[in-house]
Amino acid sequence: MSLVVQKYGGTSVGSVERIQAVAQRVKKTAQIGDSVVVVVSAMGKTTDGLVKLANAISTNPCRREMDMLLSTGEQVSIALLCMALQELEQPAISLTGAQVGIVTEAHHSRARILHIETERLQRHLQEGKVVVVAGFQGISSTTDMEITTLGRGGSDTSAVALAASLKANRCEIYTDVPGILTTDPRLVSDAQLMDEITSDEMLELASLGAKVLHPRAVEIARNYGVPLVVLSSWTDEPGTKVISPLTQPRSTEGLEITLPVSAVECDTDQAKVALLRVPDHPGVAAKLFGEIAVQDLDIDLIIQSIHEGNSNDIAFTVSNNIIQRAEAVSEAIAPAFRNQTTPHPEEAEVMVERDIAKISITGAGMIGRPGIAAKMFATLAAGDINIQMISTSEVKVSCVIASQDSNRAIDSLCQAFQINCSPVSNSLPSLGEHRESPASHHQSPVRGVALDLNQARLAIRYIHDSPGSAAKIFGLLAEQHISVDMIIQSQRCRVIDGIPTRDLAFTVSQADAEAARQALQQAAPVLEQTEILLDTEIAKVSIVGAGMIGQPGVAAKMFAALAQHQINIQMIATSEIKISCVVSQAQGVIALQAIHQAFDLGGNKE
Ligand code: ASP
Ligand code: MG
Repeated sequence: MSLVVQKYGGTSVGSVERIQAVAQRVKKTAQIGDSVVVVVSAMGKTTDGLVKLANAISTNPCRREMDMLLSTGEQVSIALLCMALQELEQPAISLTGAQVGIVTEAHHSRARILHIETERLQRHLQEGKVVVVAGFQGISSTTDMEITTLGRGGSDTSAVALAASLKANRCEIYTDVPGILTTDPRLVSDAQLMDEITSDEMLELASLGAKVLHPRAVEIARNYGVPLVVLSSWTDEPGTKVISPLTQPRSTEGLEITLPVSAVECDTDQAKVALLRVPDHPGVAAKLFGEIAVQDLDIDLIIQSIHEGNSNDIAFTVSNNIIQRAEAVSEAIAPAFRNQTTPHPEEAEVMVERDIAKISITGAGMIGRPGIAAKMFATLAAGDINIQMISTSEVKVSCVIASQDSNRAIDSLCQAFQINCSPVSNSLPSLGEHRESPASHHQSPVRGVALDLNQARLAIRYIHDSPGSAAKIFGLLAEQHISVDMIIQSQRCRVIDGIPTRDLAFTVSQADAEAARQALQQAAPVLEQTEILLDTEIAKVSIVGAGMIGQPGVAAKMFAALAQHQINIQMIATSEIKISCVVSQAQGVIALQAIHQAFDLGGNKE
């Protein structure tokens, strides 16, 4: 007999008929002999309706009363679902978050779960009842009993947290789509359903998948190894499995208050190639990485930041044993990149550096928590370690530093982020022990493609190239609670008045862009001779897939798809399982479609 947690979203319980259909499905599972805990959202658009009501009365309703109000939506649906189950002669009992003992932080409207009492749940299950629990809500502590909510979309998180606490055999998230798709079906008509995805990939696809599955739910599933599946409540199709690494049993105390950073990784087997002053037009990255792919050379990081005039710098890292070949390919191709548009045509220059290391922090907890990258930069600065390049993804920040600094960097970062010990690795450790051989599971090295049209880019020019500059900038933004998405610090270093300077670019949500610009402008005296540029007309397009590890040619294919459509790549940042490009906003959708097609993710798969 197994224990199953099933979660039904708002549309799945949107009407009397839908509630009855859900009751049938729940009863079917209970009849097999499984113990069932059901988590439900509020019916249909109930929560939105309640928010509207509140806003009609107050422009700034207090968070406590908002939680009091919004938590009522789920109380309606648990009662109705229980009645429907009882009509089917299925014993069932409904419980609010408080009645279960879903204990959260006291932060109203965005509480994280600390602990879930399981005795009462177990008792009712043993009595043969289906337990129907209100999603999205908890209480601040067992003494105060303040009602809290977890943030919009939080019922997924309630369900997975219950599954982790009850050590359920599986957690099923029923929704109104058939599962997780390779991309947004509204933009790409032949988006396909994925059979499975790893939780790491899902987290990197947060901007694509967040509507289907709350990222905090994925984080819990990943940390506790909860078998998770996303599927439609309308059909009997199997949906999409979200696969997590096997984990050591761990305490569910402080369930959602895990450390924001779960590992510090350092790869000393890296060397860097930089191509300076390549022309800034479509097809350059495609050509360079295409040649490298032809030679079957696997590249790791790729970084291209904002440019000056009509030229760009592109840098990438490879493992030491192939640096000579990577250099040879780059040297051979450089003359072809003669920059026709500058008044003094100059050839692209190739620069190689062998004594570098890549140091990274990873952790799902950094999503939506400002200041993690800033803390990494500040920690390195405190150790007088200069950051040569930066590349970030949703759940990872990687810095290229001098290899002689790597041991000190590891020690100080482990200390700063309270990581017990992190091995120095010479290979790619990103997916650790649960890394599967790419070929066995994936037809394509790319699992999904995401487009984010809601970002803006800020670029800061002429920042002094010395320890502490990045720390200062991102510390400032963290103070304003501005979450930074992609951070890129490029290769180009210019000497101005005898002082080496670099440019740094990053993206934030458009809503935060102006505040970020102002914060930096005000800090201009601290930042010294800098120039701040804001561009809101950008789009970020990303490919994600664990299968790209150790597989040459993936980046080349992505860049070639963009080049074919004459799309200029403004910036590039990568992690082991993700490649993101910034392009102009007007070309975002075409870029997404072209890339989705290039990787054969659509229609005619089988
Ligand atoms: N009802 C809440 C919302 O609409 C929670 C949820 O559905 O997950 O955000
Ligand atoms: Mg939802």
